[in-house]
Amino acid sequence: MRLSLTDKCNLRCTYCMPADGMDWLSKAKLMGADEIVRIVNIGVDQLGVRELRLTGGEPLVRMDLEYILSSIRAAQPDLPISLTTNAVGLEKRAAGLKEAGLTRINVSLDSLHSETFTTLTRRPFLEKVLRGIDAAASVGLGPIKINAVLLRGINDAEAPELVEWAVTKGYELRFIEQMPLDEDHVWTRDGMITAGEIRSSLQARFDLSPDPRDRDGAPADRWEVRRPGAVGDPLGVIGIIASVTEPFCTDCKRTRITADGKVMACLFSHDETPLLPLMRNGGTDADVAQRWREAMWLKPKAHGMDHAGLGDATYVQPDRSMSAIGG
Ligand code: SAM
Repeated sequence: MRLSLTDKCNLRCTYCMPADGMDWLSKAKLMGADEIVRIVNIGVDQLGVRELRLTGGEPLVRMDLEYILSSIRAAQPDLPISLTTNAVGLEKRAAGLKEAGLTRINVSLDSLHSETFTTLTRRPFLEKVLRGIDAAASVGLGPIKINAVLLRGINDAEAPELVEWAVTKGYELRFIEQMPLDEDHVWTRDGMITAGEIRSSLQARFDLSPDPRDRDGAPADRWEVRRPGAVGDPLGVIGIIASVTEPFCTDCKRTRITADGKVMACLFSHDETPLLPLMRNGGTDADVAQRWREAMWLKPKAHGMDHAGLGDATYVQPDRSMSAIGG
């Protein structure tokens, strides 16, 4: 289950948000902390959710994150809970998040060069992010996964360097294909860097061999990384999430809740099923579970995006950007 805590963010990544002018959700529309906890409990206790990922927007902009986490943890002692974050401000909060019951983190980081980072995120915060990741590692919020989106002519040449950095630090780097979920609607199929291109650029510097572990519905196709010609233990493992060119819809087991409490059965859905009105008007947990179940029964077979931009009109970009859905 991916649950978004807020649509707000303190970065403005070009492939996700506009430079300015987003319409934020009002406080009244946003799920309150206790509503979030109730939804998680319904998901786990009645619908078979086995893993929770908190995301956003930027989940760290919610000052009640630690309260939300400790309340979920009190009710769900064994639930794996991860956080997808840009790590701005994580340095000061990592220890408290661990104590509140967070299991591990995923950090989004597209460049290790300050200027490129600032171009991509429109904010000069690379050093804060690196300090945040170090803090998370030192308090035991691992295994740490790093998410990177490559943009042609901006940071695509940095792919091998990002791998070198991640394997040295012991983090699992995952490249995510750029998806047509940007608020500015500038994504093009020709412009995006494909999984095939990513593998080729890495193979110039490393040997990649398929990770023998079962993928088990995970979005990332995982590869062991070795120096050319080396045998034995790999330097590390990387993942490639090829949502556009090598979609994995048939294995997808995810359910998503937006920050305003709507079920999205697919990241690219146009259908959203609101749970909050029912919850706020006396609906029981069983009522909420039933509405959620019905939304998931309509999970589409596939997102239809594999042909976007190629003259096939099956894919139409949803109104919400990634930051407003919860990535
Ligand atoms: N703020 C948090 C973060 O930065 O990780 C969580 C939300 S962010 C929307 C989650 C992930 O979505 C990030 O790894 C980001 O790079 C990715 N993302 C956003 N827009 C995307 C797009 N158009 N295509 C692919 N990934 C995207």
